[in-house]
Amino acid sequence: MSEQESAATESGIGEPSDEWREYHGAPTGTEIECEGWRQEAALRMLNNNLDPEVAENPEDLVVYGGTGRAARSWDAYDTILAELRDLGDEETLLVQSGKPVGRFPTHERAPRVLIANSNLVGKWDDWEHFHELEAEGKIMYGQMTAGSWAYIGTQGIIQGTYETLAELGRQEYDDDLEGKIVATGGLGGMSGAQPLAVTMNRGVCIAAEVDTHRIERRLETDYLMERAESLDEALAAAEAAAEAGEPYSVAVEMNVADMLEAMDDRDFVPDVVTDQTSAHDELEGYYPSGYTVDEADELREKNPERYVEESLDTMERHVDAILELQDRGAVAFEYGNNLRGQVEDHRGREDVDSGMWPLSGSDPEDRQAFDFPGFVPAYIRPMFCRGRGPFRWAALSGDPADIHRTDEAVTELFPEKESLARWIDLAQEQVSFQGLPSRVCWLGYHAEDDADGLTERARFALRINELVADGEISAPIVVTRDHLDAGSVASPHRETEAMKDGTDAVADWPILNALLNCAAGADIVSVHDGGGVGIGNALHANNHVVLDGSELAAEKARRVFTTDPGMGVIRHADAGYEDAIDEADQSDVAVPMRDRQ
Ligand code: NAD
Repeated sequence: MSEQESAATESGIGEPSDEWREYHGAPTGTEIECEGWRQEAALRMLNNNLDPEVAENPEDLVVYGGTGRAARSWDAYDTILAELRDLGDEETLLVQSGKPVGRFPTHERAPRVLIANSNLVGKWDDWEHFHELEAEGKIMYGQMTAGSWAYIGTQGIIQGTYETLAELGRQEYDDDLEGKIVATGGLGGMSGAQPLAVTMNRGVCIAAEVDTHRIERRLETDYLMERAESLDEALAAAEAAAEAGEPYSVAVEMNVADMLEAMDDRDFVPDVVTDQTSAHDELEGYYPSGYTVDEADELREKNPERYVEESLDTMERHVDAILELQDRGAVAFEYGNNLRGQVEDHRGREDVDSGMWPLSGSDPEDRQAFDFPGFVPAYIRPMFCRGRGPFRWAALSGDPADIHRTDEAVTELFPEKESLARWIDLAQEQVSFQGLPSRVCWLGYHAEDDADGLTERARFALRINELVADGEISAPIVVTRDHLDAGSVASPHRETEAMKDGTDAVADWPILNALLNCAAGADIVSVHDGGGVGIGNALHANNHVVLDGSELAAEKARRVFTTDPGMGVIRHADAGYEDAIDEADQSDVAVPMRDRQ
């Protein structure tokens, strides 16, 4: 028994299943073992999540994001597979925190699988209560796409980072990042996507990373171009590349707080400053200044209290350096790692007017942690107002040619979207498939030429369905998305930070999203608590639609890809966002309290 296996047994999830070993990822090809493609898609996506190439620690059922699991135990995994193989076209399987708990007769247009993960009643909705139940094997942390069987590996992250930076380019520079320098921290699991996402947007990236192995790994995988021996060398190379308008990325092995202070001392103001170190975890994630990685690891072992204090001190300096560079003209934003929240909570840098970034008229001497925005209010929300979000699809055949055919289809359908075309070209060149071949792109509600009355997402899904029907694609495509989407999440420190009407913590929206997508006939629908930011901090929903070329699939796609992005439009229109109100007007989305006034 391996170390991982014995840890798994001790944690009560049992020993890795023989079936999982035999599958070793999703089954592929055109033969199915279930009664229909909807059930087969669920079986393949569950196994894709647990593909050793895709998951972080599949022997422990962990897909990604700390302990985000695909099933509660190996027994539960085996039983889910048996149920899916047996599930009829007029039945629905219920999965509660990774365990199959029921199967009911429903009807053909209903979802085949309904999932609820990690949800607790408000008063008990915290890690402490969750961990007690988890230790007794009664609940499971589903993260976002882990427990809803929609994770597709790093290719999902690179696209989100690319899209955020593309929006920054559009908003701040009227186009892309050509000639612009982005300074950031972290080259780890998700943060390692930053240099490639910057260069894909034609910009220049300088990244501080304390861990030499992380830098090497990004160089080996071509996510990063070069490493500099000193900050001065990195600055000179970055400036030369920016002047020449060449995409370029360089890493410097140093603490990011020290790097940003040193830039300020040298009067070097980057165009953009952000961060993706693991600041959400002051003990295991973030490194304090003044130590090598080995020294810091030793301090953590010997004196965790001191480590935490020094780590938080560095975070305060880090935030101050970002604010200083922002004052001097840099565009600053936080990338969802709770850096600002840590400094606010632990260093008393409290935002007196919390939720209303930016604080107008705040004295530079008395700046607060939240005086620079998170990435959602700054760059993602305008897209959410238009119902835009991370539409993703996987080829159940396992054949990359099927995804290449969809790449052609999406660029043919939306020729006006230059950034989408650039993304598809770059993804083909630079992003390798993991597990089932998949692609992500951001699509929204209103289509430029809306003569067919379809949303962007519905139009593309219907085109894929036609290609499957015509045999141009060899097996069905399953369409799903991240839980981070326009109308599917309530998360006050991330997706719903600083909502215009103060409704950051109102969680009716993701519940309505899930209910509506059931009504519209999605094939899998799920509702989770705590993804990304931890138990009690978020509620979010997800769905899958299987495009098997049938008229039924077309009907479902037409409905779900209208209701799902439509939730983003009405949620933001309700909160008073002008873009969302405009989108609703243009696209005839009903907003009853507005329409009937
Ligand atoms: P990770 O732990 O794999 O990587 C973080 C890296 O930062 C590590 O390589 C570490 O050595 C380095 N680091 C830590 N402290 C440092 C310091 N002071 N100076 C320089 N380097 C330092 O984590 P990850 O998966 O890359 O994620 C990073 C953070 O970004 C997390 O908090 C995550 O939640 C957040 N994130 C959010 C989103 C989103 O969509 N909101 C997306 C990606 C990442």
